[in-house]
Amino acid sequence: MLRITELRLPLDHPEDALRHAVVRRLGVADADLLAFTVFRRAYDARKKSAILLIYTIDCEVRDEAAVLAAHPGDPHLKPAPDTRYRFVGHAPADCHAPERPRPLVVGFGPCGIFAALLLAQMGLRPIVLERGKEVRQRTKDTWGLWRQGVLNPDSNVQFGEGGAGTFSDGKLWSQISDPRHLTRKVLTEFVKAGAPEEILFVSKPHIGTFRLVSMVEKMRADIVALGGEIRFGQQVTDVLLEPEGEGLRMRGVTLASGEELRADHVVLALGHSARDTFAMLHGRGVYMEAKPFSVGFRIEHPQGVIDRARFGPNAGNPILGAADYKLVHHAKNGRSVYSFCMCPGGTVVAATSEPERVVTNGMSQYSRNERNANAGIVVGISPQDYRQDGAAGGPVHPLDGMQFQRIWESRAYELGEGGYVAPGQLVGDFVKKQRSRVLGAVQPSYKPGVRMTDLAQPGRESLPVYALDAIREAIPAFERQIAGFAMADAVLTGVETRTSSPLRITRNRQYESLNVRGLYPAGEGAGYAGGIMSAGVDGIEVAEAVARSILGLPADSSPHAVGPSVLQAI
Ligand SMILES: Cc1cc2nc3c(=O)[nH]c(=O)nc-3n(C[C@H](O)[C@H](O)[C@H](O)COP(=O)(O)OP(=O)(O)OC[C@H]3O[C@@H](n4cnc5c(N)ncnc54)[C@H](O)[C@@H]3O)c2cc1C
Repeated sequence: MLRITELRLPLDHPEDALRHAVVRRLGVADADLLAFTVFRRAYDARKKSAILLIYTIDCEVRDEAAVLAAHPGDPHLKPAPDTRYRFVGHAPADCHAPERPRPLVVGFGPCGIFAALLLAQMGLRPIVLERGKEVRQRTKDTWGLWRQGVLNPDSNVQFGEGGAGTFSDGKLWSQISDPRHLTRKVLTEFVKAGAPEEILFVSKPHIGTFRLVSMVEKMRADIVALGGEIRFGQQVTDVLLEPEGEGLRMRGVTLASGEELRADHVVLALGHSARDTFAMLHGRGVYMEAKPFSVGFRIEHPQGVIDRARFGPNAGNPILGAADYKLVHHAKNGRSVYSFCMCPGGTVVAATSEPERVVTNGMSQYSRNERNANAGIVVGISPQDYRQDGAAGGPVHPLDGMQFQRIWESRAYELGEGGYVAPGQLVGDFVKKQRSRVLGAVQPSYKPGVRMTDLAQPGRESLPVYALDAIREAIPAFERQIAGFAMADAVLTGVETRTSSPLRITRNRQYESLNVRGLYPAGEGAGYAGGIMSAGVDGIEVAEAVARSILGLPADSSPHAVGPSVLQAI
């Protein structure tokens, strides 16, 4: 198999132009091209009137060696890499002896799903413990907050089957380095579960909420069919640890019901909102540290404004779909402001998991045909920014970031005047430092509703002043990249605080907690992922580490053995 990269064709090329271009690029007769598939399709929209599609093509030819010999040193024509997934091992028959405790996976978001799926595929019969409900019931509870302003703290946007990724845009790209092609394994499993096949080749694939719901159910059924077990409504409230050498050893967990489950291998795939569980783990002495994250607002524009700014006369072309953007600005006060989790044609959602707090995020359906584009506009902050003890340096308490998030989420609830209404302001007023009273041309999509206010009112600021200043400076700078971005009627809604985990449950090269053997912190909550894809990949790598330990295989010695430690802006 050969791979051609950087094959450029006009946006509206006829279907057979691709085959002709491949044949021409290979320099072979048409009959010698036996088959080809699109591995990736991206676009180059720098010249709006002449947008190009950029293909990566895998092809089978009659005489591969001859084609390669005819293109010596060509960086865009090479043997295709082998992207097939290979398991590290499989359980022998005696692995299921009743006296051997089964591995536990805590949390059934993308990380827990992939950890459990891989363990099940390797014959290791995991037990999954998920505090929330199965996805259909959870959907009802989540809509309960959006439609009636009623929050269920155990079943919401953050908690329940599918994790935080279920009510999302389902963007499936990531910036992790992926030498083992594990993202391919994740995408392939998603397609098996019902995702559209195009996610395997478009450069920025997305699924949308409706499809994610049925995919999650299908993956659950696969895990169960392979001998795994999935228990909903089972919150882990304690860990059973024994001293071992200088550190501790995992022996099991306690559930909210009081039931104890024995286990020597526990994957903790908690997500970034498991605040009570983080506090419990800290109390039990599990090593963790404060880490940077970001805070800001959601911004909404009419999708048409973004489409025209990005695609000019090609706005609306179905191959391009609804336009996205990715923006960064380095403000004079030293802060970086960037767009986060941009959702074309989507809606802003209420994403709190705690009573009397307001948190925003964004989601969309596969069609991405809602009238507004939304994105987080967030400012990076460090542990020194959010330390709660007032000291000027030294280590920051690992739970301080969580406390800081709570302060601003409660403030947002107050500014919204209750009922989970979010505070909002028109962009024009925010830049001019004046209170907004009425909406303009943009209808905000956040439910249960938005109350117009002054997000930067002195003494009642919705975010720290340095963050407000940096965002105020960034908006005109973003206008220079996306015409219309600073439109006066665009709406800011606050606050966006759950951009990533405020702490890291640090692990060693065997993916175990630094001081607890048998405990495998994983995914976004542990600080090792920043989106659906990276959480899924981390779940795979952690499942492999668990399998190596259970099956007595040598530890992974690859340089990636500590996982994708990224603070990823999706
Ligand atoms: C509205 C929204 C939109 C998003 N859009 C995108 C997007 O388009 N693309 C993208 O890549 N990312 C997106 N994200 C981020 C993405 O969802 C997360 O990065 C991803 O879900 C992290 O996966 P995870 O498995 O590590 O954690 P989570 O998905 O958060 O899952 C953790 C699970 O653990 C469970 N849990 C927690 N504590 C316990 C306990 N003590 N006992 C038992 N169970 C417990 C929770 O109930 C939860 O189900 C979005 C997030 C939100 C909220």
